[in-house]
Amino acid sequence: MEISLPRVAEMLHSASTIVLTAHVHPDGDSLGSMLALYQALQADGKKVHLLLDDVVPATYHFLPNWKKISKPVDNDRFTTDLLVILDASDIERIGKVQSAVKAPILNIDHHISNTRFADYTYIDSKVAATGEIILELLNLMKYKVTADIGTCLYTAIATDCGFFRYANTSASTLRYAADLVEAGAQPQSISEALEQRSLSNIVTLTKVLQTIEMHYEGKIATMTIFPDLLHDPDENTEGFINYARSIEGVEIAILFRAIDEQTVRISFRSHRADVSQVALAFGGGGHIRAAGCTVHDTLENAIAQVLPVAIGQIR
Ligand code: AMP
Ligand code: MN
Ligand code: MN
Repeated sequence: MEISLPRVAEMLHSASTIVLTAHVHPDGDSLGSMLALYQALQADGKKVHLLLDDVVPATYHFLPNWKKISKPVDNDRFTTDLLVILDASDIERIGKVQSAVKAPILNIDHHISNTRFADYTYIDSKVAATGEIILELLNLMKYKVTADIGTCLYTAIATDCGFFRYANTSASTLRYAADLVEAGAQPQSISEALEQRSLSNIVTLTKVLQTIEMHYEGKIATMTIFPDLLHDPDENTEGFINYARSIEGVEIAILFRAIDEQTVRISFRSHRADVSQVALAFGGGGHIRAAGCTVHDTLENAIAQVLPVAIGQIR
């Protein structure tokens, strides 16, 4: 059932125990939104548990309370009043949290590809980040936006809109960011924390840049990553795809990352073309200009299947 934001506020008000989660392969928006809502609900005296079926990447270790996020282990079973799923468009995206928690599900999200899987859904696909919705919600609930909450929500919003450069940046995105800076978020220290990479990660970037191939009269640029190209198999390649997207004449950039012989994670970025449709065709999802999916096939077959579908979105 789709519900209004005031109804979301009522549901949170009436719950005394809440589990918060978000999508695997966490990013600034999922982590920042989780941590901000956690802090606000805790301050209101609620018993809140942060569960995530993944590790928190080191890049985000500057976020207050990130250590409170725990990974469910196999036999974990949580009974709670409400399971709140943030920034995830599909139940599969929360991994093992799905089986670990028995509770009514409230989903707060901004993905155009949202499958309406939850018992209660609030989606606004016009906002740049789930963090924008969380800020509006906290204001509606009359919760104080502390400096720590400001840091989390500024991170959530800034990361999903490419630091106010992407097409999803609206006047209200900028107003929300201004409110968060007034609350105590520090744009410079947040962007410095997020920009920092290890030397070996920069070396990896130089190798990944060498895999760039141009297709369809230069309108599509691909990057391919084999596990042996990486310094560490879990290495963070976030942001690499933007180099492919920034090439003059490129409409769609695609990054193929082989996880093993039969698993390829794929990221899409575009200037205008709707890549959420390409990702959806392969069981994934996302936004018009940023989407992703996982294909269970060899790297070669994944490329052969995905490229024609991407070309179809340009025509
Ligand atoms: P990424 O390329 O991983 O940064 O993802 C870009 C966008 O697509 C994000 O909004 C993700 O939430 C979404 N996305 C990535 N992979 C998937 C997937 N397997 N299923 C659904 N959405 C995805
Ligand atoms: Mn996200
Ligand atoms: Mn998001």
